[in-house]
Amino acid sequence: MRSIIKAQRGVRDILPKDSYKWRFIEDVARNLSASFGFKEIRTPVFESTELFERSVGDETDVVQKEMYTFLDKGKRSITLRPEGTAGVVRSVIENSVFGGALPLKLFYINSFYRYEKPQAGRYREFYQFGAEVFGPESPQADAEVILFISSFFDELGIKNLALKINSIGCTLCRERYSVALKGYFSTAGDLCEHCAQRLHRNPFRILDCKDEKCRNASRDAPVITEFLCKECVDHFDLLKSYLDSLKISYIVDPRAVRGLDYYTKTVFEFVDTFSRGQNSVCGGGRYDNLTEQMGGPKLPALGFAVGMERLLLMMEQQNLEIQKPQDCDIYIANAAEEFKLTTMKLSFILRVFGKINCEYDISDKNLRSQVRHADKLGARFLLVIGQKEKDSGFGIVKNMKTKETLKVPLFPDDDFLKAARNIILAHLAQ
Ligand code: ATP
Ligand code: MG
Repeated sequence: MRSIIKAQRGVRDILPKDSYKWRFIEDVARNLSASFGFKEIRTPVFESTELFERSVGDETDVVQKEMYTFLDKGKRSITLRPEGTAGVVRSVIENSVFGGALPLKLFYINSFYRYEKPQAGRYREFYQFGAEVFGPESPQADAEVILFISSFFDELGIKNLALKINSIGCTLCRERYSVALKGYFSTAGDLCEHCAQRLHRNPFRILDCKDEKCRNASRDAPVITEFLCKECVDHFDLLKSYLDSLKISYIVDPRAVRGLDYYTKTVFEFVDTFSRGQNSVCGGGRYDNLTEQMGGPKLPALGFAVGMERLLLMMEQQNLEIQKPQDCDIYIANAAEEFKLTTMKLSFILRVFGKINCEYDISDKNLRSQVRHADKLGARFLLVIGQKEKDSGFGIVKNMKTKETLKVPLFPDDDFLKAARNIILAHLAQ
């Protein structure tokens, strides 16, 4: 016997029993994006490796440990996108999208790839709903982005989320903070091998390291808040006052740093307060220098990304049911072989002109099996086409749940459009 080929570790098939849930969440995301004035952008799954090294940062765990990188047949170093912002920034610069009206507001729902240890809520292929805003410097934009995500979570009915915010300052603040951190960590005790190496190049990363030694060493590290310049303090204070007015509760976490190098000023995270596992559902913040750093114009920007798998997991844990869509409105069964074509034509017209989800048999089932199949599909209505229907010109549309029936004129002169119209009307009447 031939061996079965299985999917790779850390990836998942989204089967029909679940795909409608994804679809529901994506629809909420798309509709809300439209209300908030965000337009969709789709960028490629793979980019040049350098894009992520230069934006996400080559000292970060994402770049150092988690990227799917390979040489293509032309010997180019290619990476499967581990996050969304870098590709969007590249595209905005490459296509001069910033030349249009600012602020530029974009959203995406895409798959991402990270070589991580698979576990609940952590996969090697995962999906994010993310958004980016280019142009505004004002903290009102930060508040707007946070309001956008909170509204998204609210609309889905998700509870037990805590919003953590922090300011990690601008280049100036970070330079001063970097000196202080280097000084502190050079005497703070053992660091993991990786952090010991990057201490002088990028001491911020130690604060985000999951290694026990680095966590212990970080415990009494100075916090960025003490190094913020006046502009950054004012920006952060204004953001907090906007959030207060919007009645969005938050926790200021002066130790919150993000795992990506490009952030400046505001960073934030939504965490599931009930989960002991992968509790970060959404991460985001400002990246005012990134566009310029990537060769584009100076363009302040900010964004967020929600992890879809973790979102779905939370919804399940909170018993937030997503209603299964009606897959089959009507099943048109044939009573005998010679009526097969009639069911086919009628179904076609109902599907195309009536926009009705219609099924009929394409696998030579007898009438009993067809009815059983209609039941399995959860068809709302059943119509059987046989000699009686042909002769009388009437069909019986039966409600599968209530067993109520409705007599419908069919084929007055073999006119399928008219017949379909009658069925549609009967359908609407129930
Ligand atoms: P974590 O600390 O859990 O590794 P992160 O800081 O690496 O998260 P971000 O890069 O900020 O995550 O990505 C935004 C969101 O994407 C996360 O909040 C999470 O919901 C989701 N996410 C990140 N990595 C994965 C993964 N490997 N599998 C599933 N979802 C993920
Ligand atoms: Mg991570």
